[in-house]
Amino acid sequence: MAKYKLEYIWLDGYQPVPNLRGKTQIKEFESFPKLEQLPLWNFDGSSTRQAEGRSSDCVLKPVAVFPDSTRKNGVLVMCEVMMPDGVTPHPSNTRATILDDPGAWFGFEQEYFLYRDGRPLGFPAGLDNFPYPQGEYYTGVGYKAVGDIAREIVEEHLDLCLDAGINHEGINAEVAKGQWEFQIFGKGSKTAADQVWIARYLLMRLCEKYGVDVNWHCKPLGKDVDWNGSGMHSNFSTTYMREKGGKAYFEALMAAFDKYKNEHIAVYGPDNHLRLTGLHETQSIDKFSYGVANRGASIRVPHSFVNNDYKGYVEDRRPNSQGDPYAIASRILQTIATVPTP
Ligand code: ADP
Ligand code: MN
Ligand code: MN
Ligand code: MN
Repeated sequence: MAKYKLEYIWLDGYQPVPNLRGKTQIKEFESFPKLEQLPLWNFDGSSTRQAEGRSSDCVLKPVAVFPDSTRKNGVLVMCEVMMPDGVTPHPSNTRATILDDPGAWFGFEQEYFLYRDGRPLGFPAGLDNFPYPQGEYYTGVGYKAVGDIAREIVEEHLDLCLDAGINHEGINAEVAKGQWEFQIFGKGSKTAADQVWIARYLLMRLCEKYGVDVNWHCKPLGKDVDWNGSGMHSNFSTTYMREKGGKAYFEALMAAFDKYKNEHIAVYGPDNHLRLTGLHETQSIDKFSYGVANRGASIRVPHSFVNNDYKGYVEDRRPNSQGDPYAIASRILQTIATVPTP
């Protein structure tokens, strides 16, 4: 038997963006624990905006397990928050609203800024002091492009995620100085979203020792300057989209996305009006459009999709870096469900 350190991780009740929370429980197991072996646990919901002080217990229900290579016998346990009865989802529990669909695949491209002393890593001190304008930072190399510690953080984060079994598909330096991206792909309606939250957790925890914060805001430098914002492009497909597809179905699907555009924007992350301006490879927030290989559209359709008789995946470019991937996946599947499949 060994004593495992189980880090129960959940989303709190803060609005509009929940915070990640975590606390450790020690338990003995013969080997690395499976999900079914992990017990429910409690926390004080009055400290996380999830309950009143008088009856403050909320319940943590483990939903996904990952190895934590930074700790001896470490386990990362992603949890849903439940009401005290242990079976009713708490109102803050967006994961519980996702339709179960093993044939749904999601790929999230998470962009973010690394921040120190209130500005992006590599920005000189002083509000009006900008580094070289955008152009050479995206996928760049060298001190001038990426500075000194950013790559060390990004590489260490990648290894932690791979150790945890997270299905990273890649990483890259982004368009603004101090801005980076990782991509996570998962089969099943909740898998990629679980992994994005754990990857966010690992990045924030890793950055503690560097004195660096992760700034997830979608337009941290404001909309009036020529610096890109951060998105979380959400690529998605269902079994029907991949195997049957066709132009008529695709057009019906896009009509549904147009119809529900406000409902989508509502869960695509706060302050998105600062980012979806029609500039910097975005469509403006009040319009819905789609286009082949068009990075200025709300939904970008890859060339391969059209060449393959409208089969495959598409990319919703509107979700932002601070969006909750659970709420995003939930809304996308809800809209897809309104479109009849012939
Ligand atoms: P770009 O930056 O050009 O938009 P990326 O390579 O960063 O492209 O991201 C493309 C994303 O599409 C990846 O996250 C990948 O996992 C995802 N993806 C690829 N195939 C599918 C599919 N069939 N269903 C859903 N997502 C997919
Ligand atoms: Mn990308
Ligand atoms: Mn990107
Ligand atoms: Mn993209």
